[in-house]
Parts: sequence; C-alpha cells; structure tokens
Amino acid sequence: MPNRPRIAVVGSANVDLTTFADTFPRPGETIFGKAFDLGFGGKGANQAVAARSCGADVVMVAKVGNDLFGEATLKNFASQGIDTSLVRIVEGVSSGVAPIFVESNGQNRIIVVKGANDTLSPADVDAAAAILGQTDTIILQFEIPLETIYHTIQFAKARSIRCIVNPAPAQQVDLARLCDADYFIPNETEAEALTGLPVKSLEEAKACAAALLQRGFQRVILTLADRGSLLATSQSFDLVAPFAVQPRDTTGAGDAFIGSFAVFLAEGHPEKEALSRANLYAAISTTKVGTQKSFPARTDFDAAWKRQAVNA
Ligand code: ADP
Repeated sequence: MPNRPRIAVVGSANVDLTTFADTFPRPGETIFGKAFDLGFGGKGANQAVAARSCGADVVMVAKVGNDLFGEATLKNFASQGIDTSLVRIVEGVSSGVAPIFVESNGQNRIIVVKGANDTLSPADVDAAAAILGQTDTIILQFEIPLETIYHTIQFAKARSIRCIVNPAPAQQVDLARLCDADYFIPNETEAEALTGLPVKSLEEAKACAAALLQRGFQRVILTLADRGSLLATSQSFDLVAPFAVQPRDTTGAGDAFIGSFAVFLAEGHPEKEALSRANLYAAISTTKVGTQKSFPARTDFDAAWKRQAVNA
C-alpha cells in the first residue's frame, strides 16, 4: 500500500455560471436563454479535487467572498473531503466567478472576475504555515497574485516540501522567481507564451523545454494533449506516451494531470511511471463531460491502470 500523500493547493476557486442561448443579446437587449448551468471551477479548486479523487488528503488554501458562491464553494470542497480550514471568507469582495455565454453554434464569451482570489496574499500563506508545513507537496497556478506564488515557492523550498508550478493561464512573469519550484508544468499554449517559441512538433516541444531549463528550471514537463507529456531535465528528454481514448470534453485535462501527478509522485512511484499514470488519469477525464465531474475515482483509475498493463 503506497503512502497516503498530503497535498496542499494554494490557488483559486471560481464558480462558472454558464448560460446557453440561441444568440448573444445586442447592447440594451434582453432575451430568453435556453438553459443554465452552475459549476465549480478555478484551476486551484480543480487540481485540489483531482488530487482528492486520486486518493490524497488535500488541504486548500484559498479565499472566497462572503456570498452565496463562497458558501457553495466551501460546501463543494467539504462534500469531497477536502480540508477547508484554510479557506478564508473575505468581506467587501465577491467570490471568483466566471459568467460564460454559449451560443447555439458553440461559440462562447467569458468574463472572469477574480474577486477574492486576487486577495490571497503572502501573509495568508504564512498564516497557514502550521498546516502547510505538514504537507509533502504544494501545487500552485497563476490565478492568484504572482507575489503569493513567488512567496509560496520559497516557503516550500525552505521546508523541503515538493513544489509544483502550473503557469496557467500564461502571463508575463519573472521566470527567475519561479525556478526554485521542483516541477514547472505548462501546456503547449502556455509554454509558447512564456518562451516565445512555437510548440507544434515534438522537436519544437523539446527546444521549448530546453529553453525553460536554460532559464534555470530543474525539471520541466510539457503536457502535449493527445501526444502525452514530455519530461525535460538537464540529463534527458523523455516523451511519456499518451493513452488512446475517445475524448468527449477535454476541459480540465491539464488540471486532472497535475493533481494526479502530484499524488502518484508523493506515493513514491518512480517519476516516469507517475507521469504515465497521470497521462492515463487525464485521458480518462477527457472521456466525460465537465471538469471536476470528469475526474475518475481512484478505484476506477486503478482498474483502468491494471487493464492497460494486461493489454500492453
Ligand atoms: P490542458 O488541458 O491544460 O490544455 P493538455 O491538453 O496538454 O492540457 O492535456 C493534459 C494531459 O491530458 C496530456 O498531457 C495528456 O496526458 C492528457 N490528454 C489530453 N487530451 C488527451 C487526448 N485527446 N487523448 C489522450 N490524452 C489526453
């Protein structure tokens, strides 16, 4: 039986408010929509749910507003068994929300309001030190203030806690202040935005990963959608093969990958096996519609992992 990992996510929680309509309203116009869906999102929350579904003890460090969405977010975490003792409710600002409008042709328009996520500060991380210091991995994304990310990387380094940084969504950053992370895991778009280099072919992906290593990262993993993932270190480049699936909705595949990779690694699986397992966990998530709802339970993952080993 592998160790049961303790994973912390210092990150965002949002509520997605999706309205489906035939067309978008013109300025000043009011129309009837066809359907509405409320879903829990935010990359931090998604990765926390993935790590939890994968079997880890998970603590979330986040901020929500004192509103219905904040309350619902806390309930959603609690219902999944995620420790919410470090999720603070803040006054005077809304929870993070994403009103999404989808036309019948599938085109969407999204406005993300960062709200309380934007108030998660280095001081909040320090205030969480007693619990955070007991974890074996901290995962970070780019939906909270950059200063908090830089600070948390140093917090983890000082305590020898493994730190994984997912630079999503891509933005202008001081890469030198991220280099102390143990793993830097962008997808193709993020890697292109951060380096200015194209990532179309595998050769280009390697060149892009090499550029990131040159900037000072120790271990870079590029997620390459249906081409799997690429691990780059100063010693080698390893393409870890994908699992063939029939995808229905790839939203959240990156979050499934990162949350589960953190768990497999912390359980003590060798690095490349942890990557292969994360490829499978994320691949399974693409076969179901939704984000958090699409992350497989550990028992289902274990069964799929055994099946593929028999068929290999
Ligand atoms: P993001 O969701 O951030 O854009 P990717 O699209 O790179 O990230 O997907 C993350 C991981 O999910 C990939 O590295 C791969 O393991 C898995 N994955 C994504 N799409 C597919 C697919 N169509 N078939 C198999 N695996 C996939």
